Amino acid sequence: MKFAVAIDGPAAAGKGTVSKAVARHFGFAHLDTGLLYRAVGQGVLRGDDPVSVAQSLDPKQFDEAALRTPQVAQAASRVATMADVRTALLDFQRNFAAQDGGAVLDGRDIGTVILPDAQVKLFVTASAEVRAERRYLELAGKGMDVTRAGVLADVKARDDRDSSRATAPLVAAVDAVRIDTSALTIDAAVAQAIAVIEKAKRR
Ligand code: C5P
Repeated sequence: MKFAVAIDGPAAAGKGTVSKAVARHFGFAHLDTGLLYRAVGQGVLRGDDPVSVAQSLDPKQFDEAALRTPQVAQAASRVATMADVRTALLDFQRNFAAQDGGAVLDGRDIGTVILPDAQVKLFVTASAEVRAERRYLELAGKGMDVTRAGVLADVKARDDRDSSRATAPLVAAVDAVRIDTSALTIDAAVAQAIAVIEKAKRR
């Protein structure tokens, strides 16, 4: 069975949490496509050529903790503006989505560019302040030296860059179902996502 769920939205809106829970619930494979861009950003911080890094990524080798730093996030959103980098990552994402048993991909352009024919498209969002507070608590909880104001500025800078770039900007697909998690618990957001997918599976 091929069944693809595309989950897009801005940084720290809850996409990752919703995606993982949905994948577990339905037994789908899950790909966090942000990690691909983070790995390319990490390569650039080390002085490598972004397109070469994108062409030779091996997600099995990813060190997730090292990829989830604010510095790598900013580098990721800069390399994500490069059309050649996005092209180099296209096939990997489409092949992942085409596997038997179903797949959930989360990112910024999954429903618009990578999988325009996905069976389900969700756009998970929340206010910038709520997202920054969540990200602050996550990073501070890992012992990182961050401030609320700094994290809010980072989130807004990435939002601006992701939404205004020429190639595959962050935008909800016209047929995406919006889930605003600003005032939702994780369980409530996950329940909404599961309900949308169950309805699509019955079609
Ligand atoms: O989702 P995450 O915050 O890990 O993504 C890091 C950066 O990678 C984003 O700010 C965005 O610029 C880029 N990205 C993208 N397209 C995707 C996933 C992530 O441009 N599908």
